[in-house]
Amino acid sequence: MDSRRHIAILGSTGSIGRQALDVVRQHRDLFEVELLTANNSDDLLIEQALEFNPGAVVICNEDKYRKVADALQPKDIKVFAGMDSVCSLVGADDIDIVLTALVGFSGLRPTIAAIKAGKIIALANKETLVAGGSVVMDLARKYRAPIIPVDSEHSAIFQCLLGAGENNFTRIHLTASGGPFRTWDKARMAEATRKEALKHPQWNMGAKITIDSATMMNKGFEMIEACWLFDTDPSRINIVVHPQSIIHSMVEFEDGAVIAQMGHPDMREPIQLALSFPERLSLDNRKLDFAALGTLTFEQPDPDRFPCLGIAAHAMKKGGNMPCVMNAANEAAVAAFLADKIRFYDIPDTISRCMDSIEFVGQPGLEDIFASNDEAFARAKEMCGL
Ligand code: MG
Repeated sequence: MDSRRHIAILGSTGSIGRQALDVVRQHRDLFEVELLTANNSDDLLIEQALEFNPGAVVICNEDKYRKVADALQPKDIKVFAGMDSVCSLVGADDIDIVLTALVGFSGLRPTIAAIKAGKIIALANKETLVAGGSVVMDLARKYRAPIIPVDSEHSAIFQCLLGAGENNFTRIHLTASGGPFRTWDKARMAEATRKEALKHPQWNMGAKITIDSATMMNKGFEMIEACWLFDTDPSRINIVVHPQSIIHSMVEFEDGAVIAQMGHPDMREPIQLALSFPERLSLDNRKLDFAALGTLTFEQPDPDRFPCLGIAAHAMKKGGNMPCVMNAANEAAVAAFLADKIRFYDIPDTISRCMDSIEFVGQPGLEDIFASNDEAFARAKEMCGL
């Protein structure tokens, strides 16, 4: 790359954030860290700040401000607290790229702030597009903020479309690992414990997204995200279970040609591409050995065992504030499941009941999105006894 890229990592202590810093560590001559933010993990944030020496850090939990500020006081690193600080700092002139690796709906506000400042968005927070798709995409166009997907599937689709020129795709084949319950029957899934749901076969991720993978709501989110990013609708997105997670997704064209993007599951690859795009940099990952792989397999997802897939398709077709309501209800239900308050199938059940009970808004603005989120989150929490 011709000059160093100055990056902000929102959610630097989470799974994506830590892997992003590993990418930076391997290319210190190309990337400069300007801003790191964390929700709660004060010790790791301090450690990261001492290693990468950003201009500023934000600890969102204000109770932990003093500790972080004291630890970084001898260094020339500014320390701030609270989500409002994240929103005002992402627009700083010295930042080129904002990696949004926050978990859940909380990623929406800072992402919008970064878009309004015209930053390149390396989007790793899928709830941003699920909850606020139309508003976010409109703002990205208005402020000319490019959105480069970090999620492995969307990065794959993005890569498959490079070089497609004016040619329209006919279908996206969105691959899914199937999660920990791929081979379980429904009765066994109904009794699944938190520990069992947290055991993902292919990807090592945070708790929220791992439960979303077990219910396959994660794939529902990704379907919605793909509709916004690639300007299409659910009818053109075919979800296919591919347990080896080698093909990260595929795109089919008019002539039936299918382009796939492959690699061993390693999030550093899409993270690095988003940060260095359009250039590709070296990476110390495992390369594919096809003869050793032998077989790649594919299955149809089971809508009966994984009702969240149908719920997501319904929410996207209905549009308006429905995907936002679905996301908020899911966030509350997953928290309740992780707290052992509800059982596995209470998650889709809570989401459906919540979607039926919240007033439909056809063309929501940003304020409606926030209101729908708060209302649905509170309603779902109440349903789950949280
Ligand atoms: Mg994914």
